[in-house]
Amino acid sequence: MSNSIQIKCCQICKNKNLKSILFLGYLPPVNQFNKLNYVAKEQPSYPAELLFCKNCKLVQLSTIVDQQILFPPEYPYTSSTTKILRDNFANLSKEVKRKFNFNSNDLVMDIGSNDGNLLSNFKSNFRVLGVTPEKIGKVAIKRGIDTIIRYFNLKTASLILKKYGKAKIITATNVFAHIDNLDNIMSGIKKCLDKNGIFITESHYLLPLLKEVQYDTVYHEHLRYYSLTSLNFLFKKYGLEVFDAKEIPTHGGSIRVYCSLKGKFKINKTVNKILNYEKKYLTNNYMASFKNKVSMSKLGLLEILSKIKQKNKNTKISGISAPSRSATLINYVGLDEKIIDCIFEIKGSYKINKFMPGTKIPVVEEKSNLLKKQNFLILFSWHISKELITNIRKQGFKGKFIIPLPKPKII
Ligand SMILES: [Zn+2]
Repeated sequence: MSNSIQIKCCQICKNKNLKSILFLGYLPPVNQFNKLNYVAKEQPSYPAELLFCKNCKLVQLSTIVDQQILFPPEYPYTSSTTKILRDNFANLSKEVKRKFNFNSNDLVMDIGSNDGNLLSNFKSNFRVLGVTPEKIGKVAIKRGIDTIIRYFNLKTASLILKKYGKAKIITATNVFAHIDNLDNIMSGIKKCLDKNGIFITESHYLLPLLKEVQYDTVYHEHLRYYSLTSLNFLFKKYGLEVFDAKEIPTHGGSIRVYCSLKGKFKINKTVNKILNYEKKYLTNNYMASFKNKVSMSKLGLLEILSKIKQKNKNTKISGISAPSRSATLINYVGLDEKIIDCIFEIKGSYKINKFMPGTKIPVVEEKSNLLKKQNFLILFSWHISKELITNIRKQGFKGKFIIPLPKPKII
């Protein structure tokens, strides 16, 4: 029996009048990788549809897919240790140490702490505590970072309070879009936060998603797509005040938000600046133009591929890297194994020798001799295309690159 939930009212403000702004079709879960000897059989797919709340401006998926289906036990949890993420965490800790006067006795608590990547930057200056539901928390413990391996909710908050006391700094990076019970996690945070403490979140930012047509970041693990406007609405509900915010480069565009109890810190001018800037994008009209750009990008990509194949059906087109977002793009655009031969993944990836979700496109290990045989490579991690192109050219690839978004093009 599936425990998927249909969204009937806004998850922040409970408004029932939600508008459907994008429907990408019924997509398989992005981690549904079958082995190459898999015999096709019945498989579930779920609507990938975005709803917009005109009241608090939250954009959210219309269906919360059963977590057991999205994250089956065999799903290998990999820590996200890209350079851009590591740099970002180092930058966050520096910013906190520079701006605030906390002392070494103060507790820093990270929700969704994973292998302790973020907390490792705070460890030498503060008491630290990680909370993560995944077994990977054991890696953090080995690194000397105190970690509680369970979901963060009101109950966990009570346990923490008893054992560790209140936290001066609470961080939650990239978990805010994933957790299905927002009210429970917010109540837990409120409970654990010291009256003079700060709560810092980082979330994938809705504005670059809209402006740069990053519809491929829409998949079932991302339940909500935040703007500062909607986060502000959410935090206010719990008596928290946003006093600083800034855009950061992770995940193709994220937003870092600082809040505290009301009146504890001076509100930075950037807060109002960002709220004002968001106004012209968080409208029904802009959402309609976004939807149109999504459709046009699909047609544009198909046109490029069609021209290449019509000229010579033996031209070799493959893909580079299979991040979660590539599964959305491939299924929405309708690419198959006749159009692209395979997708290359770096050695060690658990996706190698499996089919891309919803297709029979094989994922294979990236090797220079194979890359050299390709005429075209589609960059599915197009948000870091510069970095990728340099790396692939170094391996001797002489063909052309296809950038699928925001406007499909060959370079
Ligand atoms: Zn709302």
